[in-house]
Amino acid sequence: MATAASDSRAAPLPTPLRTVDEQLQMILDGIGSLEPIELTLLDSQGLLLAEDVRSDFPLPSFDNSSMDGYAVRAIDTRSASEDKPVRLQVVGDIAAGATTRSGMGPGLSMRIMTGAPIPAGADAVIPLEDTDRGLARVAITRPVHTGECLRRAGEDLPAGSPALGAGAALGPQQLALLAAIGRDRVVVRPRPRVIVLSTGSELVEIGQRPGFGEVIDSNSYMIAAAAKDAGADARRVGIVADDHATLLDALESQLLRADILVTSGGVSMGAYDVVKEALSDLGTVEFTKIAMQPGKPQGFGYLGNKVPIFCLPGNPVSSLVSFETFVRPAIRKLLGKRNLHRATVQATLTEDIESPRSVRQFRRGVLKRTDDGGYSVSLVGGPGSHLIASLALSNCLVVLDEQTTAVSSGSAVTVMPLLLANR
Ligand code: AMP
Ligand code: MG
Repeated sequence: MATAASDSRAAPLPTPLRTVDEQLQMILDGIGSLEPIELTLLDSQGLLLAEDVRSDFPLPSFDNSSMDGYAVRAIDTRSASEDKPVRLQVVGDIAAGATTRSGMGPGLSMRIMTGAPIPAGADAVIPLEDTDRGLARVAITRPVHTGECLRRAGEDLPAGSPALGAGAALGPQQLALLAAIGRDRVVVRPRPRVIVLSTGSELVEIGQRPGFGEVIDSNSYMIAAAAKDAGADARRVGIVADDHATLLDALESQLLRADILVTSGGVSMGAYDVVKEALSDLGTVEFTKIAMQPGKPQGFGYLGNKVPIFCLPGNPVSSLVSFETFVRPAIRKLLGKRNLHRATVQATLTEDIESPRSVRQFRRGVLKRTDDGGYSVSLVGGPGSHLIASLALSNCLVVLDEQTTAVSSGSAVTVMPLLLANR
């Protein structure tokens, strides 16, 4: 048995923990963006275009009216005034949807609706409200300029010109343009398929009332929701007991369906930390201690045909912080996004806090806007990583970097708002 004396003689120098940045860099270096696929317009919302799109017809595709009014030749209205209106014969009606091109001669006019094609022979539209709205003849009380109230073919997008380039993010505006130029499908970077498993023999499904020693699995819901929020197509597989064979089978059966696997639990030093034990044996997943709090034990590696697997610690707060720190940027990279990281803001701290040296600490906070347009942040929940109720009260993480050991009330701290994308 080792004595204190022999311990101190043989004690190896403590190896510094790997930093958050080193771990993240290592993860991102091994991950590229997913191969493009073709999707329908609404399925491509929020994704990045992976092709250059041109229109083979102009927008608008024909000269049309921007107002309800009368199509005229501007020159015919030159002398019009309130006192001496010009009166033009109305030779027809053109509604939006008129598919034949009408025409009119000099000295004539046609009643026209917004979006309807301009008749040949007309070069302007006078809005209804600047006329007497006549049916057979119309009185015009001011001169009309050539081109007035006209939307010219191609003025928005000439035929053959680029509409959207590869890399464009597809939001409602971009989907409108794609629809307008007749594209019902586009080639995009797909949503990564994220498969979420919870490990732990103490875990039970929601429908079950937990008995003594049992805990309802909440991590898989939290992580699946966070993955969706990051842009992934997330699926929870559910609970896997702390058993080597069961875990390896469960992972194996998901491999073909996954672009990323995420497990929670079983990565610490405990006797039943099965994820660590079973996956370490495979040799493709590395278990490391990271200089962060919470979230010190982390596993990352690859299974099967190079499917990245993240093994997060089981305590709910640790799990979420680990997801935010490592998994979210990886999902964004698979999506092809250039900006992998959440935006942070500076907020005024409402209390004194301390933080361990050489560790990046993440505290749960409540971020509020202040009257002067800035932000204030207060901590919520104690140091325990098991505190789910206070986690639910938080809307941000307060990030205290490796150099920080104390921050006093009234100073600025870095805060990462965790706002849902669709709020
Ligand atoms: P572990 O990382 O497996 O040692 O788990 C640490 C703590 O987190 C234990 O108290 C677990 O019961 C709890 N825990 C692990 N997985 C989950 C889960 N999926 N949902 C809720 N709590 C969990
Ligand atoms: Mg466990």
